Amino acid sequence: MFEIKQREIIKVPDRVKRALKEILGEQNCLDDSMNRLLYSYDATRIKMLPELVAIPENQEQVQKVVQICYEEDVPVTPRGAGSGYTGGALPVKGGVVVSFEKMDRTLRDGTKTMQLQGFSRGLSHTDFRKLLKRLDCFILQTQPATNTAQLEEMLLRTQE
Ligand SMILES: Cc1cc2nc3c(=O)[nH]c(=O)nc-3n(C[C@H](O)[C@H](O)[C@H](O)COP(=O)(O)OP(=O)(O)OC[C@H]3O[C@@H](n4cnc5c(N)ncnc54)[C@H](O)[C@@H]3O)c2cc1C
Repeated sequence: MFEIKQREIIKVPDRVKRALKEILGEQNCLDDSMNRLLYSYDATRIKMLPELVAIPENQEQVQKVVQICYEEDVPVTPRGAGSGYTGGALPVKGGVVVSFEKMDRTLRDGTKTMQLQGFSRGLSHTDFRKLLKRLDCFILQTQPATNTAQLEEMLLRTQE
């Protein structure tokens, strides 16, 4: 058994917290200890605490959050459903975890020509498959064992 610890934790300055709350609203910007704990692990069960959890609802908010964090040298860790086994969703250096849980608006119905757009990347595999079924389509990609796993992570793996 090996031990991996969070190192060199980078704090989120108050001015950045204020700016993120302005963009996302207080309800989508969590920095209390309970929520930091809830977003501190994935399927590896290794725990790494974020300083703040940002939950954008659209692509524009994602861009603004990333821009501010980039300018302020605050590390950003994207998170889908946190079911990955490689620790990719763990905030190794603290900073901001960006959770895509609210970016799950379904793709436009009524067309079989489907383009995955930024706002749908947080859609879960289960909802995606239901949508495909309604459109009389299917997907050849193997289904991850966890139904909450999100599309973005699948897309990243497909591009590898
Ligand atoms: C019981 C169990 C069984 C599993 N079985 C399988 C299996 O059979 N096949 C398989 O392939 N996997 C399997 N997995 C692993 C896991 O379910 C998949 O890797 C899944 O696709 C992870 O999706 P997630 O949304 O939870 O991603 P997360 O774990 O949240 O993130 C994974 C990586 O993607 C990045 N990421 C997430 N969202 C975004 C985004 N919007 N933009 C940029 N980067 C992003 C994260 O930073 C991280 O690096 C299993 C996991 C469990 C717990």
